[in-house]
Amino acid sequence: MTAHNKIEPGHDLKAPEHFYINGEWVAPTTQRRIEISSPVTEERLLSYPEAAPADIDRAVAAARHAFDEGPWPRMSPAERASYLRRVSGLIACRLDQIAWAWTRQVGAPISLTKRLVGQNATLFAHYAELAERHPFLECRQRDDGGEVRVLREPIGVCAAISPWNAPMVLLSYKIAAGLAAGCTMVAKPSPETPLEAYILAECIEQAGLPRGVFNLVPAGREGGEHLVRHGDVEKVAFTGSTEVGKHIMRVCADRLARVSLELGGKSAAVLLPDAEFQRALPSLMVYSMPITGQVCFSLTRILVPRARLREFLDLFIPAVQAICVGDPAAPETQMGPLAMARQRERVEGYIAAGRAAGARLACGGGRPRGFERGYFIEPTVFTDVSPDMTIAQEEIFGPVVCVIAYDDEDDAARKANATPYGLNGAVYSADPERAFAFARRMRTGGLTVNGLIVDPKHPFGGYGQSGMGREGGPEGLENYLEVKTVHMAG
Ligand code: NAD
Repeated sequence: MTAHNKIEPGHDLKAPEHFYINGEWVAPTTQRRIEISSPVTEERLLSYPEAAPADIDRAVAAARHAFDEGPWPRMSPAERASYLRRVSGLIACRLDQIAWAWTRQVGAPISLTKRLVGQNATLFAHYAELAERHPFLECRQRDDGGEVRVLREPIGVCAAISPWNAPMVLLSYKIAAGLAAGCTMVAKPSPETPLEAYILAECIEQAGLPRGVFNLVPAGREGGEHLVRHGDVEKVAFTGSTEVGKHIMRVCADRLARVSLELGGKSAAVLLPDAEFQRALPSLMVYSMPITGQVCFSLTRILVPRARLREFLDLFIPAVQAICVGDPAAPETQMGPLAMARQRERVEGYIAAGRAAGARLACGGGRPRGFERGYFIEPTVFTDVSPDMTIAQEEIFGPVVCVIAYDDEDDAARKANATPYGLNGAVYSADPERAFAFARRMRTGGLTVNGLIVDPKHPFGGYGQSGMGREGGPEGLENYLEVKTVHMAG
């Protein structure tokens, strides 16, 4: 089988023209197309076909058949693992392309994307390893001495719906775990970022996975809606906004399709009274506004002891002002543009809301000078922020950080927990155990003491309105499994 969609290496991104369905590169059934523009030049970057409901139906039918009749769910986990390892190896050969695709479509700095893309290969290798050692069959004993066999079986046909900000890794989490579990997958990446999903499809094809096990149908909202309403889809794995996540859950409730949701965040970095600010600074600089603040786990609220507020601002504000904003393809750039025009509108709206509410702009707030084109915005810090302000409550998804003063640790805990979200967080202290004790008070799915680490081999996900279920680690595998109990009565 040859791929008609080969993505060219390096800077030259070639638009795909087919969908990957049932192990073949299939022509679209309609003329529908999606156009995306460069966040840097605002000029057209790609035009490619959008899957229509008929294309999506074909993809689901292929996944259905592969699940009901094909070898994949019936293979031993070790056999599936060997395929996943092959996929991992093939991804590893294309990391440079994946990094460039991310940079071109989203505007994420190439220095960052090159550093992070290795996670995709890691995820497939990680799930291969987990598949080999997960307890898919456990033998237990009843009180009457009889044997009970607890099986973990693949859920079935899964839809994987991903957003644009970190396109490949957020898809890899789902596809690697779902495949390791024995599910068959229909991927619908974000319309703004199709390229990584095509690279993944090419790797899966090359690795020789059975027909229909992985299918790719890029589409927008309408296609996503069609997919989640499809009666043959038994599970939806979604990463995206809280609003769409809630809607998907409502749709899936009708037929009790399984749902896992990775949604928005408003995470807090808490500098405890004894924190060494200078040591906290590097991680705050990287993670308070990574990818121009378009990362769900960004540390967008920084909680500082009131008595040390001035000291913190004297350190933090000059560092933010020194961030190198520019062309994401340049190796020295630390912050590129926002990904799209609607993102800039949204972020500017929040900056206006912050000013109107009485927060003080400590730096940024406008468009940087010298950038007539591109969706650039200055890294922005608000102080005098109270926890009930819109800018402290809602996910801005841009380079806008709120510095919030607190009086004592109880006040810090209250303020850290004062949003509907609970995705991530960081606690800084000279005493790691003191920070750990504080971390236990925070209502969030992930935390780091004295820094920020997100490791795809460990569970990631949210409390409250940040989502449901976990990706990464054995918990991520459980997301794709049903539990069956077989009592051996004689
Ligand atoms: P979005 O919710 O608009 O879209 C996400 C995906 O859902 C896209 O593929 C989109 O086409 C699809 N979609 C939209 N409407 C749909 C519908 N009615 N039915 C089915 N699918 C539909 O989000 P976005 O703008 O692409 O991404 C930004 C959001 O994603 C932010 O809120 C961010 O916090 C969140 N996010 C969360 C995580 C996490 O792991 N928790 C990671 C990255 C991004």
